[in-house]
Order: sequence, then structure tokens, then C-alpha cells
Amino acid sequence: MDSWFTVEQIDQDTFVISEYKHWEETHCYLLCGTKRAILIDTGLGVSNIREVIDGLTKLPVTVITTHVHWDHIGGHKYFRSIAVHEAEKEWLSVKFPIPLQVVKNNIMCNPCDFPSDFKVEKYQIFQGVPQMILHDEDCIDLGNRKLVVIHTPGHSPGHCCFYEADRKYLYSGDLIYSGCLDAFYPSTNPQEFWKSVRKIQSLKISRILPGHHHLSIPVTIIDKIETAFHNLSNEGKLKQGNGIFSYEGFQIHI
Ligand SMILES: [Zn+2]
Ligand SMILES: [Zn+2]
Repeated sequence: MDSWFTVEQIDQDTFVISEYKHWEETHCYLLCGTKRAILIDTGLGVSNIREVIDGLTKLPVTVITTHVHWDHIGGHKYFRSIAVHEAEKEWLSVKFPIPLQVVKNNIMCNPCDFPSDFKVEKYQIFQGVPQMILHDEDCIDLGNRKLVVIHTPGHSPGHCCFYEADRKYLYSGDLIYSGCLDAFYPSTNPQEFWKSVRKIQSLKISRILPGHHHLSIPVTIIDKIETAFHNLSNEGKLKQGNGIFSYEGFQIHI
């Protein structure tokens, strides 16, 4: 198995595949049902995540995408069945909003121990046609296991969290994690970001499974992030270009 990835088991049929060697510390999640498996995101694309997945399950795998940012779609090229939210399906083909050179700079900005066969000169942003389009409240059936799509725009227009009511898991992508929450690019929207945090506050959540950084984060971070947005708004500061605001356990970059 490729040592670029770290695989940990969350429960009997849920795995997290992480890229801890890179500063982004990206997480992808493999959820196995009785009929099929879902892979939430595919990471940076500097090493073959398919080989790892094939070692974990023999079920047919569908990739679902929290959002079309390079660090979550890098391994999409290894899969045939891909789903994205309707608001970002164009980003997968012609309209990816960030130039390739900016992405390459992001990959390389903090040097790490890349796999020996990785060449940044050859790195490409995934482009393809999704086989499935996601909408808010869609229910994905894995066989004895169900996952609900929650459209949570703000970090990007088609950002989705995925919620498993039976286990009370929230796969939170780039909406909730312990680190710098980004709503500063032109394609982000701080107001929408705040609204999306409020949207997931109504869910019963026992565990957050984030897109980056620490895996064990308290569920209370959701309320803290909401309060931070609320206060920024009250103070008239919730506007793009205002910089980075720091709180206990996270920052907000607008
Ligand atoms: Zn992102
Ligand atoms: Zn990300």
C-alpha cells in the first residue's frame, strides 16, 4: 500500500484516507454499505488513491464531491462514477476557477516528502463529466446505509456536506474544520458561508468528519464558528477583503 496515504478506521465500515505529509492534511472518507461504497472526495491527486480503496473494499465505488477545489478532486481521474453538486458541474469541465499555476504553487508552497513518481510539472487539475448531479436533500442509498446531501454554499457555490442520520456523522468538507476557514476568493461568499453553518446547526451530530486537519474536533466548534460569523456581521466586518480573524481552534479568512 502506498505510504503517502494514512488509512484509519472510524467504525466497522467507514474509513478515512488522509494525506498528512502535505500541509493541507486532506481527508477522504470511504463508506461501505451492503450494495455499494461511497468515496467522499479523492484528495490532492499526487498519488493513486484508487489502489488504497481497492484494498479496502470490493464494492462498486461512487465518488461524491464536497466541492470542486483541486485538493478534493485530485484522484477523481481514477474513478468512473463521479457526482458533484449542480452548481459546480461546469467547474469540472471548462470553468475551474483557479489557474493551474496557482494550484501548483499551493501544492509546492510547503515542501514535503512527495511520492517518488510525483512530478509537479505534470500535475493537471481533473477535468471530466460527472455521471451524477447532486441536489440539496438528495438521499444516497448504499444498501442498509443512507447519506443525505446538504447543500452548504459559501466556501464555494456548490459545496455540500453529507449527513448520516443513523450514525449522526457530518462529513463537513471545507465548511467546518479546525484551521483557517476560507471565504476570501472571488468565488466564495462569507454571508452564504454563515448561512450554511446555521443550516447544519439544526442537525443532530455526534461526530464531525472534516475535509482537513484534526480528525477529532468537538461538535461544539459548529456553534463557535456560527457565533464568530454572527459577531463579525454585527460589527460590520463580514466583508471580503477584511483579512483573517482568529478564534480558539479556528480562523476565518474573508
Ligand atoms: Zn475548498
Ligand atoms: Zn479544501
